[in-house]
Amino acid sequence: MTLDIGVIGTGAIGREHIARLHGKLAGSRIVALNDMDRDSARAAGAALCPEARLHDSGQALIADPAVKAVVVASWGPSHEEFVLAAIAAGKPVFCEKPLATTAEACLRIVEAEVAAGRPLVQVGFMRRYDAGYRMLKEIVSTGRIGAPLMLHCAHRNPTVPAHYTGDMGITDTFIHEIDVLRWLVGNDYVSAQVIKGRKSRHAGPDLEDPYLVILKTRSGIVIDTEIFVNCQFGYDIQCQVVGEDGAASLPEPPAVPMRQASMASSAIMMDWKLRFIDSYDVELQEWVDATRQGRVTGPTAWDGYFAAVTSDACVEAKRTGQIVAIDAVEAPDFYRS
Ligand code: NAP
Repeated sequence: MTLDIGVIGTGAIGREHIARLHGKLAGSRIVALNDMDRDSARAAGAALCPEARLHDSGQALIADPAVKAVVVASWGPSHEEFVLAAIAAGKPVFCEKPLATTAEACLRIVEAEVAAGRPLVQVGFMRRYDAGYRMLKEIVSTGRIGAPLMLHCAHRNPTVPAHYTGDMGITDTFIHEIDVLRWLVGNDYVSAQVIKGRKSRHAGPDLEDPYLVILKTRSGIVIDTEIFVNCQFGYDIQCQVVGEDGAASLPEPPAVPMRQASMASSAIMMDWKLRFIDSYDVELQEWVDATRQGRVTGPTAWDGYFAAVTSDACVEAKRTGQIVAIDAVEAPDFYRS
């Protein structure tokens, strides 16, 4: 049976998800839309799913009996309200990251889902669906390089817009590493440290850039990540896992190696949207398939909560220069697989 979905938030990522879920992927269609900007919702509907009903509020969309599952792609501060409403209505909900903007709000969602007694929430951490990360995880989890000891990672953007300031290097950028690296090694973090050095002349006045984040896991794995969002040369995601018996790295995206004008070279992507474009398709197809079977197979509300707690600790570590403990509450049995 086709999964009838309502989408809240018809901005950049919302429209991309609508196009995927209404035509590109199998087993789903969009039946309802809402956006605070009604013109945006109307335009998205006209362009992508003309038969979808427009609702005046996200709450009205969730209450619509025709909507069997909800996608939340509005801006972060609105996520908690809509995810809690979907849980209260007993409807599966895919929520773009962040699950909510504070760890406390994420915990309220976790508690509501546990109280509801069935898995309903998935968070949009799409890197878990990237073919390269999946191959790397396969190698790590089958023990081919022995127990992981250290990870050396980098998250580099060529440039960022003027509104990208303050702690966004952690809350908007590093948040993807926080989730995917914890999933990759299958181990929770216990502490965070941030080491700042010389600031790039390309960074704006309200931004520290670059810096190094060091996370330590429960089993003692040390993970260093360079966050450098004005690196100029490309959108460059690196991850090397060093194990007891070998090392394995995230594959580079395919690029044609060239030999020309006495140079051997290959292009580096510039646009972050293209780097993980395929993973969004896989992510949403697996969400649709699992939702139709009454399951959640992707990042859970608990993963969203743990990412928020880790992000808070990284922000504090960046501010204080101290090693900050990552103090999550005990994971409910509900989320233990
Ligand atoms: P965007 O282009 O600004 O779109 C967000 C839309 O939500 C806007 O049209 C906004 O309307 C609307 N909105 C805000 N509050 C609302 C509310 N209470 N009810 C209904 N609609 C509301 O932002 P975006 O880039 O698509 O990002 C949306 C979310 O996706 C963010 O949480 C972002 O972090 C996440 N995201 C994830 C990825 C990923 O790789 N997983 C990539 C991009 C974005 P107004 O413009 O009128 O405020």
